[in-house]
Amino acid sequence: GPPRPLAEPLAPRDVFIAVKTTKKFHRARLDLLLETWISRHEEMATWSTPTARQPTAARHCPARWPWSTTALSSRGGSECGLWQGPGSIPWWGSGPGGPTRTVPALTALPPLPRWFCHVDDDNYVNVRALLRLLGSYPHTQDVYLGKPSLDRPIQATERVSENKVRPVHFWFATGGAGFCISRGLALKMSPWASGGHFMSTAERIRLPDDCTIGYIVEALLGVPLVRCGLFHSHLENLQQVPASELHEQVTLSYGMFENKRNSVHIKGPFSVEADPSRFRSVHCHLYPDTSWCPRSAIF
Ligand code: UDP
Ligand code: MN
Repeated sequence: GPPRPLAEPLAPRDVFIAVKTTKKFHRARLDLLLETWISRHEEMATWSTPTARQPTAARHCPARWPWSTTALSSRGGSECGLWQGPGSIPWWGSGPGGPTRTVPALTALPPLPRWFCHVDDDNYVNVRALLRLLGSYPHTQDVYLGKPSLDRPIQATERVSENKVRPVHFWFATGGAGFCISRGLALKMSPWASGGHFMSTAERIRLPDDCTIGYIVEALLGVPLVRCGLFHSHLENLQQVPASELHEQVTLSYGMFENKRNSVHIKGPFSVEADPSRFRSVHCHLYPDTSWCPRSAIF
């Protein structure tokens, strides 16, 4: 559809972006992000594992999610919660075995950003487009924004007590496409998501982390997912993203889809061999003044 009118102009510091990653991908995936979109928005990014980029993680991570997201991590990674490095603020809880305290310290903290976004380490974030999109929603309302990967609500079984279950269904935004949550909604989620609670909430429906977010937001809080086609995971055919509309897309990805390599289609400036994810080419397209972009990319 047509671009939504801007409700509030946003600056990069208004949006917190968490990048979920795990040690084995620091070289293979994170370096590419650092050289591309994160280089332009370093202050906004954080890391999910404690070993990589320690200063950034220490500066931003535990202080910034209003709840620990140890289980945006179901496969052994951890988003924010695990980090307890020097300079970190231990109030938001922590990873396995660490202290878990929650929100009372809230008022002692620097103001929380207006928006919290999650992406995977195979996502390119077009931060200008992200700010434009989020700026078209009032951050004071409850907003959960992303793209579902299913065409219907997911059916789950909710464990309500020791020996009682009931069916529950809800929409959820695919973690691999990235999603965003307004500050007010993030705070409302904290009874189910802060400290160690995210894990036990996930346990109640036995589904992955992104489904658990949908469960908390839609099923428990009654806030509907707002679908947005500008988020892209590699579970869709990325060749179908029109090259002429790359400026508007909020996230991109790369990977495998139906057993084939899947990436966005963009002509240059780098070959597919040199730039299989196409992220370098996309980055030069969006930021042609980047030092390592061929000068021809400007014209
Ligand atoms: N990941 C993780 N721990 C793991 C494997 C993956 O935290 O053991 C993260 C990974 O860094 C990425 C996300 O989970 O941010 C999705 O992983 P991947 O892209 O490999 O899988 P898929 O997209 O096929 O689900
Ligand atoms: Mn992936």
